[in-house]
Amino acid sequence: MTQTCECGGTYHRVKLAQYDFSGFAGLPVELRDAPGLRCDTCDGVMLEGEVISTALLFLTQQILRLPRVLFPKEATFLRKRLQLSQKALAERMHIQRETVAAWECGQKPLSPQHDYILRGLHFGAHLPAGVEPFPRELLEQALGRVHTAEQPLPTSEPFIIAAELKQLRNMAIHA
Ligand SMILES: [Zn+2]
Repeated sequence: MTQTCECGGTYHRVKLAQYDFSGFAGLPVELRDAPGLRCDTCDGVMLEGEVISTALLFLTQQILRLPRVLFPKEATFLRKRLQLSQKALAERMHIQRETVAAWECGQKPLSPQHDYILRGLHFGAHLPAGVEPFPRELLEQALGRVHTAEQPLPTSEPFIIAAELKQLRNMAIHA
């Protein structure tokens, strides 16, 4: 199967040593050695849908496991993964929409209690269609440390998704 680029060139399967995934995630994320497609004419690269959805899944797992209170963009990412608006999330958590807005824009820190509930929603029974709940042990791993963790300093270090894509890469290259 070949895909044609907008420029008229042909895409070939390649391993992308580094790929800036931030645009898909809404926060700094870098993919390493991801399977991708590169145009033989304009050199443009793209990711296939399966790679994007897999990377988003692994990013979600990384964020759920963070041993500290979430930063604004991480909290926003987790809300969007639940396909909830700020208002819908606020209703689910029995809080004001303004509270959600305030932690998402960094006006007020997310409280450990709200962090706990937001992460916990990813393990619940009310996930959108097609989103699998995470296993129980990840929940315990993820939530056990939130309350005791120190408040983090802001960081611009990207999330790195690398080893997790290995299986997918092998699959894609041998497809
Ligand atoms: Zn092209």
